[in-house]
Amino acid sequence: MSKNVIVIGGSFAGMTAAIEIKQHLKNAVNILVIDKRNEFIFNPSLIWVPFGLRNKKDISFELEPVFTSKGVNFKQAEVIRIDLENRTVLSNDNTCETFDYLIIATGAKLNYDAIAGLNPKLGFAQSIFSFDDAVEAGKAFDKFVQNPGPVVIGAVQGASCFGAAYEFLFNIVYQLKKHKIDKVAPVTFVTAEPYVAHLGLGGFGMARQMCEFMFKQAHIKLECDAEYKEITANKIELIDGRIIPFSYAMLTPAYLGVDPVRALTDIVDNNGFVKINDYYQTLNYNNVFACGVAISLPAPQMTKVPCAVPKTGYLSEEMAKVVAHNVIACIENKPLKAKKPGEIDAKCIMDAGNNGIIMTSDHFLEPRQHAWLIPGPEAHYAKLAFEKYFLTTHKHGIV
Ligand SMILES: Cc1cc2nc3c(=O)[nH]c(=O)nc-3n(C[C@H](O)[C@H](O)[C@H](O)COP(=O)(O)OP(=O)(O)OC[C@H]3O[C@@H](n4cnc5c(N)ncnc54)[C@H](O)[C@@H]3O)c2cc1C
Repeated sequence: MSKNVIVIGGSFAGMTAAIEIKQHLKNAVNILVIDKRNEFIFNPSLIWVPFGLRNKKDISFELEPVFTSKGVNFKQAEVIRIDLENRTVLSNDNTCETFDYLIIATGAKLNYDAIAGLNPKLGFAQSIFSFDDAVEAGKAFDKFVQNPGPVVIGAVQGASCFGAAYEFLFNIVYQLKKHKIDKVAPVTFVTAEPYVAHLGLGGFGMARQMCEFMFKQAHIKLECDAEYKEITANKIELIDGRIIPFSYAMLTPAYLGVDPVRALTDIVDNNGFVKINDYYQTLNYNNVFACGVAISLPAPQMTKVPCAVPKTGYLSEEMAKVVAHNVIACIENKPLKAKKPGEIDAKCIMDAGNNGIIMTSDHFLEPRQHAWLIPGPEAHYAKLAFEKYFLTTHKHGIV
């Protein structure tokens, strides 16, 4: 009898896992992907939305046709309860599905409530961490250009997506120059990291030296070890008393596990991310797997102000491939594959407007044999090319 696999979340991790399993097992498996959205958004391009360089149709596609073409069932609904004992998933359309294997690929919830004034809906600081917020960040930028002043880009305590903050920083610097307002819009980067380009990873090759050089060249002021206390209409107050004024700010929030996953207290960490073994199985249920941003990945080193580990798109997809392999192995009674997230290789492009850095290493986390950084304009063109390649392939279910 064919096995029922449910995948919650149809984005980078969920799409990869679902399609890989279906392609291998064909009729031996029924796969259902449940996602509250029926659209895939290519998050790496959100950095360009506020500057009018991308709109929604440039960076998104519908999920259902992709899954249907691959023989995977898709349901647009929000999962509201997961019962691991009884192997059921309840959605907000009041349907309850049963699984033999479950893959949690739900990403994260943006934790705006952790800091007073951080929520972009309040209109103080902007966010690019969802498409709609990036559009609002663009409207605020257009107003700011008419009446420029100090700019703050930052990452709050517990943040993990530092790469996006740096990309947005260098892109806004580029835009300020283009609008000829760079002289009246000094830029400060206010980050929880202990030093520039720590990235929640304890650094990455020569990234610190390269970013120090880029900050100097672009006259970007740096405030590290920043623990945010409150954001108001035109200033940021840090716990240690530092006050940083701004006319335009974009801040990176910390992440939490999504509500129905955070509720699974016996398998998640304090932030609601799923604790896994080296096979990506949850600790108490070996038929329940997790991958992507939804997993718990402890920081490799303590920092004065908490910084979380970034779980990038490439890493999320590579984790999903291991999960797919292991679900197939369970069904076919074959040995499982172990691969710690930190042992997966890293591939990343940091865009800087008309410039950037290509980053690659053998291991995502230390110890690494190599961590190479290639700076220059080719990085910008590589990101443009990768965006097109990714969207074209994934739109056709090629993961
Ligand atoms: C602004 C920005 C820039 C980035 N830039 C880069 C970059 O340049 N390079 C890079 O590698 N990575 C980048 N990332 C990170 C990358 O986007 C993530 O690594 C990737 O999205 C993780 O994929 P995921 O599938 O684990 O989670 P997500 O992409 O977050 O997907 C989770 C899915 O689960 C669904 N879901 C959540 N809860 C429920 C529920 N209860 N019921 C049903 N469905 C649910 C969501 O709708 C979503 O589709 C960036 C992220 C952001 C926000």
